[in-house]
Amino acid sequence: MNIVTKINDWQTLRKNLTGRSIGFVPTMGHLHAGHLSLCERSRAENEVTVVSIFVNPTQFNQASDFQLYPRTIEQDTSLLASHGVDYLFLPDAESMYADHYQIQVTETELSRELEGEFRPGHFNGMLTVVLKLLNLVQATRAYFGEKDYQQLLLVKKMVAALFLPVDIIPCETMRAEDGLALSSRNSRLTPEQRQKAAHFPRLLQSGQCAEDITKQLELLGFKVDYIADRWQRRLGAVWVDDVRLIDNVILSP
Ligand code: AMP
Repeated sequence: MNIVTKINDWQTLRKNLTGRSIGFVPTMGHLHAGHLSLCERSRAENEVTVVSIFVNPTQFNQASDFQLYPRTIEQDTSLLASHGVDYLFLPDAESMYADHYQIQVTETELSRELEGEFRPGHFNGMLTVVLKLLNLVQATRAYFGEKDYQQLLLVKKMVAALFLPVDIIPCETMRAEDGLALSSRNSRLTPEQRQKAAHFPRLLQSGQCAEDITKQLELLGFKVDYIADRWQRRLGAVWVDDVRLIDNVILSP
């Protein structure tokens, strides 16, 4: 696996990949089986797979969340190498934001609700970094998890609006045995919090109405940002003490 840290080096390498299909998996690292499922899909569908790890400062609306975000680059590198990834791109924040984030991508409707309401600025940061990465990688296909469903919709919307020449491929959410969606933030949970967290997907899938689910989550000690039905899905965001979890499930007709 080729590890590239400098944007210029990547741009030079990219020229030699002309004519080959490229699958791209953007991540923030601390990789788990969810990320790896995206990599596997990319490997199956493309000649070359590129993964980026970049903990994007502009999409964190709380400094503590950014600081505490788990960073395990050595472990991530060996996982990706053993999963047949061809290129690992590790840009630094100074180079990604040489403009000091004076150029931003803003979506004005979908980005304002649900996650957007509770995490102001989050989607600006996410869309901006995804556009930069898509421009750099020039992938044939880019892989995004349905776990971050609103993010997936916004990326698709940006790609369509800006005529970006890439196919966005949605990938199913990978879960632990007890149903909790795999997430890099799960490792911040204590064993007790981790056990409690499993009530969140269980209730989301219970078929009860959003109000009843909210009440039960609150009784169990979760702080609920929202439980909402949109896009034939039930989406939710909750806090287990200081760790925020999001998830969504398909609503049965
Ligand atoms: P992140 O590193 O959290 O920014 O995630 C990178 C990509 O992996 C995003 O497209 C996520 O939606 C996706 N992803 C995260 N968790 C999962 C999961 N449990 N199953 C499938 N994809 C996931």
